[in-house]
Amino acid sequence: MRTIGLIGGMSWESTALYYKLINERVRDRLGKLHSAPLLLYSYDFQEIKQMQYAGRWQEAASSLAEVARRLESAGARAIVLCTNTMHKLAPEITSKLTIPFIHIGDATAERIRAKGYRRVGLLGTKFTMEEDFYIERLRAHDLGVLVPPADARVDVNRIIYDELCVGVTAEPSRRRYQDVMAALVASGAECIILGCTEITMLVGQGDTTVETFDTTAIHAETAADFAIG
Ligand code: GLU
Repeated sequence: MRTIGLIGGMSWESTALYYKLINERVRDRLGKLHSAPLLLYSYDFQEIKQMQYAGRWQEAASSLAEVARRLESAGARAIVLCTNTMHKLAPEITSKLTIPFIHIGDATAERIRAKGYRRVGLLGTKFTMEEDFYIERLRAHDLGVLVPPADARVDVNRIIYDELCVGVTAEPSRRRYQDVMAALVASGAECIILGCTEITMLVGQGDTTVETFDTTAIHAETAADFAIG
């Protein structure tokens, strides 16, 4: 198998899911005692969040690019960045690599297109829902993208950072996400992207009438399949 370099800790709650999901996929496909060869660099997320909210993206980009480069030198054959939001810095990270970077947006869009959907509802952090880097990546796969209105985006973003990233799953927050998804479906979304790697801790297929695409599971499976080759 090929070794995967994971850049995680954003937050560690979802990196723990990646670790489990990648290994489960390898076990399911190869059987016996097979598990994935992995290298993990795990950030202190408080420091990353401060950079995000202060707009210190260049500093974050230098750090992530350096970590990716170190994982490559340590033997990684592909890089998996375990967060949707930090894919904002994918161009800076990939510019330093000679190995593949498994992009979470591409992996997700390919699954959605394979099911024949054309219009997606997107949930994620405010950076993912409001900036171009993620939405444009989906559009490049011929997907139309709907995001929640401003007041809902504030709640969706707050619940990610204040609750899910510290391991809290609260019933009022689950109901809020259910309502936000219902409104996206009413506006024409044919499916919903859980476009933040912690959202799967709070809601899933049972919380909306349309198909959900869990970026954590999709990205982890794509990584495992790369490892198996
Ligand atoms: N894990 C989240 C994501 O997938 C948010 C944390 C972060 O800002 O990286 O976007």
